[in-house]
Amino acid sequence: MSVQTLTILGATGSIGGSTLDVVRRHPDRYRVFALTAFQRMAELADLCREFRPDCAVAATAEQAAALAGALRADGIATEVLWGEQGLIQVAAHEQVDAVMAAIVGAAGLESALAAARAGKRVLLANKEALVMAGPVFMAAVRENGAVLLPIDSEHNAIFQSLPRGFSRNLDDDGVRRILLTASGGPFRTTPAEAMAAVTPAQAVAHPKWSMGPKISVDSATLMNKGLEVIEASFLFNLPAERIDVVVHPQSIIHSLVEYVDGSVLAQLGNPDMRTPIAHALAYPERIDSGVAPLDLFQVARLDFEAPDLERFPCLGLAYRALREGGRSPAVLNAANEVAVAAFLDGRIGFAAIPRLIAAVLDEVGTSAVHSLGDVREADRLARQAALGRVAGH
Ligand code: NDP
Ligand code: MG
Repeated sequence: MSVQTLTILGATGSIGGSTLDVVRRHPDRYRVFALTAFQRMAELADLCREFRPDCAVAATAEQAAALAGALRADGIATEVLWGEQGLIQVAAHEQVDAVMAAIVGAAGLESALAAARAGKRVLLANKEALVMAGPVFMAAVRENGAVLLPIDSEHNAIFQSLPRGFSRNLDDDGVRRILLTASGGPFRTTPAEAMAAVTPAQAVAHPKWSMGPKISVDSATLMNKGLEVIEASFLFNLPAERIDVVVHPQSIIHSLVEYVDGSVLAQLGNPDMRTPIAHALAYPERIDSGVAPLDLFQVARLDFEAPDLERFPCLGLAYRALREGGRSPAVLNAANEVAVAAFLDGRIGFAAIPRLIAAVLDEVGTSAVHSLGDVREADRLARQAALGRVAGH
C-alpha cells in the first residue's frame, strides 16, 4: 500500500474536521500535503502544527505572512500561500494524489475544478461546484482521467449502491431511478403559518447532522435536497424525472437505487460524515472511520414520507432550475447563497428565501452554458439581482 498525499480544501470546516479525524486514524496511509482556511486562522495554525503540511493557504497576503511567521517561530517549514491562486496551486500540485474539496459555496468551484483538470482523485463535498458548472466539471473529470468520488452522504450511498465502474448511461446497468433521502430538517413538522417567524438559531439546529451554517440553513429550507437533486443529475447522468426525494427522518438510509427488476439497493449507517469520507479516501478498499456500528435494535423503526412542496418551495425551485437547464442551476445557487447569507444576518425572513430565489430565476432567465465564463457570468448576474432584492427589503 502506497501512502496517499492529500490536499484538504476547507480544512477548518465541518467536513475538513471530519476528514482530518479519519486521516489521524491512519498515519500509515495518508500524508497531508496542504490545508486551507478562510477566516479561522488560529485553527489553521494549530492544524499545521499537528499535521506539518508542505503548504497552507490563507485568504489574504497579510494573513499568509502572519501565519508563516508564527509557524517559523515554532520551527515549522510550511510554505504559506494565499487567495484563489494559492487554492488552485495546492489542488493541482504534482505531489498531490487526492483532493478533498470541502470549501462551502461558489468559492470552492475554481479549486475543485483545478483538481479535476489535473487528473486527481477528487473527493467532492462542495456540491455547489457541480450545481453551478455540472457539464463543465464532468467533462474536466472525463477528459483528464480524474476519479470523482462523492462525499455528500446521499451521492456516496448511490455510488455504493451502483455496480462498480457503472456506466455513463445507467440504462445499461438496469437502473430505473434513484431516491435521495432527506431528514426533513428542523422544520419537518412545523406548521406553514409558523415558518415565516423561524430564527437563524432554530434553522441551524439540525436534528441529525452537525454541519456548517450555510448547509444547515439549506437543510432547513430543503434547498440542500434540491441542490443534491441537481448534483445527482450531473454525477449520474440522469434527468430530473428519474430522481425522487423521500423524507426519512431517522437518516439511517442514506439513499437508494431502484433497478428494473424491482430490486432496490441502499446504503445504511449512522448519520456521521466520517463514513462517506473514509469510503472515498480508501476506495476501493475499506478502512475504519471511527463511526459506531449501526445498532438496528436501537433504531427500531424507519419512517418515510413525501416532501411537502408547499411548505418547502425551494425543492420545487431546484427541480425547475434543473429542467430549465443551461445557466438556471448556477443562477439558483447564487441567489440561494445571497438569500441564506441575508437570512443568517437577520436581513430577510425565512419565508423570503424561496421568494427571492424564484424572483431571481425569473429575472435573470436561462440561456445555454458553453464554458466556465458563462457560469461566472450567470453567477455574477444572479448575485447582483439577489443583492438588489435584499437591499430593497
Ligand atoms: P463549513 O462552513 O463548516 O466549512 C467551510 C470551509 O470552507 C471552511 O474551512 C472555511 O474556512 C472555508 N471557506 C469558506 N469560505 C471560503 C472562501 N470564500 N474561500 C476559501 N475558503 C472558504 O462548511 P461544511 O464543512 O459544512 O461544508 C463544506 C461543503 O461540504 C459545502 O459545500 C457543503 O454543502 C458540503 N457538505 C457538507 C456536509 C456536512 O456534513 N457538513 C455534508 C454534505 C456536503 P474558515 O472556516 O477558515 O473560514
Ligand atoms: Mg447530503
